[in-house]
Amino acid sequence: MPLTLLKYGLKRDYVPHREIPATPDLRRRYDVVIIGGGGHGLAAAHYLSKYHGIRNVAVLEKGYLAGGNTARNTTTIRSNYITNQSIRFYKEAVSLYEDMSHELNFNVMFSQRGQLTLAHSEATLRSFHLRAEMGKHHGTRISVVDPRQVKEICPHLNMDEGGQHEILGGLWHEDGGTARHDAVAWGYAAQAARRGVEIHQRTEVLGFDISGDKVSAIRTSRGTVSVGHVIQAAGGANQHVAKLAGIDMPIRCFPLQAMVTQPLKPFLHTLVSSANLHTYLMQSSRGEIVIGGGSDPYQLISTRSTLDIKEQLAHGAVQLFPFLHNVKLLRQWAGITDMTPDYTPIMGASPLRNYWLDCGWGTWGFKATPVAGKYLADTVANERVADILLPFSLGRFETMALINEMGATAASH
Ligand SMILES: Cc1cc2nc3c(=O)[nH]c(=O)nc-3n(C[C@H](O)[C@H](O)[C@H](O)COP(=O)(O)OP(=O)(O)OC[C@H]3O[C@@H](n4cnc5c(N)ncnc54)[C@H](O)[C@@H]3O)c2cc1C
Repeated sequence: MPLTLLKYGLKRDYVPHREIPATPDLRRRYDVVIIGGGGHGLAAAHYLSKYHGIRNVAVLEKGYLAGGNTARNTTTIRSNYITNQSIRFYKEAVSLYEDMSHELNFNVMFSQRGQLTLAHSEATLRSFHLRAEMGKHHGTRISVVDPRQVKEICPHLNMDEGGQHEILGGLWHEDGGTARHDAVAWGYAAQAARRGVEIHQRTEVLGFDISGDKVSAIRTSRGTVSVGHVIQAAGGANQHVAKLAGIDMPIRCFPLQAMVTQPLKPFLHTLVSSANLHTYLMQSSRGEIVIGGGSDPYQLISTRSTLDIKEQLAHGAVQLFPFLHNVKLLRQWAGITDMTPDYTPIMGASPLRNYWLDCGWGTWGFKATPVAGKYLADTVANERVADILLPFSLGRFETMALINEMGATAASH
């Protein structure tokens, strides 16, 4: 053991530097309570305290900070969606990531290395042309590329010429990238805590006191607090928590799994995704190959990982990069995703006047962490849903104004 470590371990008067203060006692009242200490809840706390001067805020987290889907995701950040509403929203998400390390004074290791989605059929290529035109219309960097350009972007890909998974082209999204998920969460948490936001870990929300059309108090595992406003950002528990407030959400929970290999020398300089193979890959800053795919095919509230998904992901990875066939797997894990019918989140107003939703983030919400936090904070501060969030209302399921992003989300996240 290094001597300095031993010295500080034994020294009684050594006070470790804490970015986030230890969990304090709950106050009797908060102007805003945020349910869920994942990336989304912490980002909303940051924007409320920094840009709206609202600091009497508590983030209530039933486990440990950012231990939900924020800790489990594979960190794809992109804006190559299909609909106008989504592209506009996620384009702002990408630009907030571009400035995030500066905003948080914390290196979130944003790496804008581009995302390549592969086409194995003419039909997929046609849909890529539509997505590219939509993206260009909004000013995103996106184009359809032919097999030669695919090979230039990712030289180690198996093009499988004439084979079952021949690569006919791709959708090249230069704005795509990744960031370090725990750095994002801790960066927001540290900034919010510095401005007086209280972060209460091991504090579970158990129920609500409702007077008329407003929540008056929140019952937690550590006591009851009265509230001005509530933001619900409870990840895989969104359907359950909303039900505690009497709100029925069109959300169903499915596990989503991922895995990483042993570290390899850098060879994969972009994100690569194949919808046909239900597989995507990227290389982490440590050299590990992160491999993910689609959700489990059945509803379940569990974070166990399974052999069948491992085999499916390994098959897809080896099809695209055959030399991975004897690489060792280090870890496999799962998160519980809160899926909506149209693969689009639910944000903004709820049937309760002071209860605001940040839900339905399913398999695609990490990239939205800054933009959702920014506009949820704006919404609460002004008590009016921000314009950019209006299309994502819970009400769209009554009017059938759905925003179908299944084709742009299923295996790419
Ligand atoms: C394997 C996997 C891969 C993914 N890959 C990507 C990707 O590449 N790109 C992308 O954009 N997205 C991806 N996602 C989705 C992304 O992880 C989520 O959409 C995002 O992290 C949601 O953030 P959040 O803060 O809303 O939820 P979470 O991080 O889950 O935070 C919610 C928090 O609420 C807490 N909570 C729940 N109930 C209560 C309660 N009653 N009281 C108090 N606290 C409570 C939970 O403990 C949790 O910490 C992936 C997800 C998984 C599982």
